[in-house]
Amino acid sequence: MTLETKNSIIIIGGGLIGLSIAYKFAKNNCKVLVLSKNRNESAGFVAAGMLATHAEGLEDELLKFGQESQSLIPKWIKSIEQDSGIKCGLKKCGIVVPFKNKEDLEEFPTYKYGKYLNQKDLQTEINGINTIWKHALLFEQDGQIDNRRRLMRALERACSLNGVEFKEGSEVKDLIIEKNKIIGAIFLCATGELKKINCEKAILCSGAWSKNIFNKIPIFPVKGQMLSIQGPTNFLKRVIFGSKTYLVPRDDGLIIVGATVEKNSKFNQGNTPNGIKELQEGIRSLLPEAIHWPQMEHWWGFRPCTPDLQPILGKSEIKNLFLATGHYRNGVLFSAITSDLLFKLVQKKNFKESEKIFLEKFSLDRFRI
Ligand SMILES: Cc1cc2nc3c(=O)[nH]c(=O)nc-3n(C[C@H](O)[C@H](O)[C@H](O)COP(=O)(O)OP(=O)(O)OC[C@H]3O[C@@H](n4cnc5c(N)ncnc54)[C@H](O)[C@@H]3O)c2cc1C
Repeated sequence: MTLETKNSIIIIGGGLIGLSIAYKFAKNNCKVLVLSKNRNESAGFVAAGMLATHAEGLEDELLKFGQESQSLIPKWIKSIEQDSGIKCGLKKCGIVVPFKNKEDLEEFPTYKYGKYLNQKDLQTEINGINTIWKHALLFEQDGQIDNRRRLMRALERACSLNGVEFKEGSEVKDLIIEKNKIIGAIFLCATGELKKINCEKAILCSGAWSKNIFNKIPIFPVKGQMLSIQGPTNFLKRVIFGSKTYLVPRDDGLIIVGATVEKNSKFNQGNTPNGIKELQEGIRSLLPEAIHWPQMEHWWGFRPCTPDLQPILGKSEIKNLFLATGHYRNGVLFSAITSDLLFKLVQKKNFKESEKIFLEKFSLDRFRI
């Protein structure tokens, strides 16, 4: 086994969260190395890119976490865009959540943050929406970003240009622990060779696969299938967030249609006839005429899920092994705040009161009996 040179901080996983954290460290003149199994399988390339703090109906600390992250996103994206030269398609386009009856609308957890639309307002807001929807909440503060075509590439580029080192095609197989402290990792290279690397600190950001590396972490994959259709440019301006399906319109008329939520899928690859059928039925139930628009692509990926659907952030019981995973359905939304928190934690900076609460709430300790 070859021994690689010493690297003080390694990031395990080069998906959305790993790249976001690497970028934060690089902007603060810290050298990091990203060990990444396969960036293409990252949920960062799969997601619809909604910044749906309110439309997702988040509650309690998770809602505050989303709201704080959403407030950081414009500045964060501007910096990534300036460094990479790639526009990320950030848009505060508003998200409409339709309802069949008013009781469901009034019980929606983030009801008080939305603007009420009656059926007439809804038809005006979304031309062609299915008449089964009688009421809606419009969350004007929510939006989207084009993660799949832009943000991921922009982050990769901004990281590289700021000195982040990458080892793509490197699958971490084991952590090297001595006296309850991480001192390195063993990884399999694309060439099939096993290598060992020393480190002083490591941050685990391996998404749905995190348990393979650190089995104390209760993470499992929840598969999501997606497809896209090409609509007329500017036909749909706001995201429609139905109870099962959502439609996310990009600037060029491409509409992202998502997503199945398959809790027992394990890591089964590929789209399935049932998955595609569910998405098509979802399109019909939201915007019937869109079922005739050409289908462009279909794809799938794995959300990193925890038993309470909240992320796992912070320290682990192994000294200097930090955790940033389990972002489930909202990793795009949570990426900005996650990178700030992990940077401060690893570099022992001072926290704001709200950040202390997030770290306590999202600590791995909550799963210990
Ligand atoms: C269908 C779908 C729709 C979604 N829509 C949205 C949305 O609209 N808005 C939103 O905010 N979020 C959304 N999400 C959630 C978001 O995509 C995820 O929460 C986020 O991408 C998680 O980021 P991550 O870096 O933890 O994991 P990933 O982005 O999956 O990255 C993990 C990386 O770790 C690597 N890795 C795994 N094991 C190893 C190993 N042993 N060694 C080295 N590297 C390893 C993997 O190859 C991968 O590249 C969606 C997700 C899905 C699947």
